[in-house]
Amino acid sequence: MGDIRSVAIAGAGMAGLHAAESLREAGFEGRITMVGEEPHRPYSRPPLSKEFLTGKGAGAGIDLREDSAFDGLGLDLRLGRSARRLRPRERAVELDDGSQVAADGLVIATGSRARRPGTALEGVHVLRTVEDAEAVRDSFKDAERVVVVGAGFVGAEVASSARAAGLEVVLLEAEPTPLTRVVDPRVGGVFAELHRDHGVDLRLGVGVTGFEGRGRVERVRLGDGSAVEASLVVAGLGALPNTGWLEGSGVELAGGTGGVLCDEYCRTALPGVYAAGDIAAWPHPRYGGLMRLEHWTNAGEQAAAAARNLLAGGGTPYTPVPYFWSDQYGMKIQLLGQAAPADTAEIVHGSAEDRKFVALLGRAGMLVGILGLRSTPKVMRLRRLLAEPTTWEDALAEVSPRS
Ligand SMILES: Cc1cc2nc3c(=O)[nH]c(=O)nc-3n(C[C@H](O)[C@H](O)[C@H](O)COP(=O)(O)OP(=O)(O)OC[C@H]3O[C@@H](n4cnc5c(N)ncnc54)[C@H](O)[C@@H]3O)c2cc1C
Repeated sequence: MGDIRSVAIAGAGMAGLHAAESLREAGFEGRITMVGEEPHRPYSRPPLSKEFLTGKGAGAGIDLREDSAFDGLGLDLRLGRSARRLRPRERAVELDDGSQVAADGLVIATGSRARRPGTALEGVHVLRTVEDAEAVRDSFKDAERVVVVGAGFVGAEVASSARAAGLEVVLLEAEPTPLTRVVDPRVGGVFAELHRDHGVDLRLGVGVTGFEGRGRVERVRLGDGSAVEASLVVAGLGALPNTGWLEGSGVELAGGTGGVLCDEYCRTALPGVYAAGDIAAWPHPRYGGLMRLEHWTNAGEQAAAAARNLLAGGGTPYTPVPYFWSDQYGMKIQLLGQAAPADTAEIVHGSAEDRKFVALLGRAGMLVGILGLRSTPKVMRLRRLLAEPTTWEDALAEVSPRS
């Protein structure tokens, strides 16, 4: 365990939890201090835009662990407290109450926050925390109609949940297809049809320029000068990494994707300081450039890798097969690897018309992504193709109608 006798974890989300668990699993018996801005123990965000909003489905709970399992980690838990500054010379994190947590190692797991629309009008919501989700769920009870801004995964799931709750839905997206940031438009078009199949008024290629109303939102102004009447708006405008508290600390931030810059061992520029989850950007050798994933599975896997490498002082490079899922209209969408940008896309099982397919995505002659709709077993069977570098030709050859 080297020189590490105490560890601080900043952030009590999925990544923070897995960092703590992995330290204990590796036999670390020293003090672990976990600092979390929210007043809650780590909980799961994916249900917040899905069954939590509709109240339907067995998975409406958001607990990640039984209380006894969490207590068993023996953490020095500081909830409702945020890390305000990192003091590398003192090897300490300063909290917002002025107290200091000194530790030999630090895992930065402060995740990301919802990008907010530029308005303070009532009735305009974002969806990141359980409180956000409660507010949206409550407003669904009295509303007949919701305008959702942004057809990324969170916006698309809110649209789906609102339909399940019986609301009319207008879904506004500035790009020509939904999910453009993560799914290449060559296959992204089918997700537009999915919304329309379910009665959503989907408007693509329309940017929102403002929100109007007196006290409460009354309409959403669009780039073409038109407006959509709205008394309830949910904005799904993406997320921003929570890096503000690291300013001036010597931890380097990544350009472009944002987040904390790490090497392939989840190490930051400061000794003994690691990062994981939504906040971490690192070079994944298979995809080129820096990767930063806002994926639930990655938060757990990367935190485990960071914790192990922190104890070992380096060790194993983190080279996962990225995995993301989304549930919309009772259908599961799954993405392995990267589905954007791609220069080649081919449906290899099923069809977009049947709303059931597996598509391969390629870039520069290599397989880079596998996207499935209602095709879990097939998608998971093909995962091995992304665990090693696979050429586009080899990937196609591997995919026979029976695979
Ligand atoms: C509505 C919603 C639905 C989602 N659905 C899916 C899905 O279907 N599939 C999927 O793969 N992913 C999904 N995700 C993404 C997934 O939830 C995230 O990737 C995951 O939560 C990241 O975990 P994290 O621990 O890195 O960050 P977070 O979950 O953001 O946790 C970080 C924690 O750190 C706290 N914090 C921030 N700053 C400080 C500070 N200075 N000091 C102390 N604490 C701080 C934050 O308050 C937060 O509690 C969804 C996300 C949302 C919001």
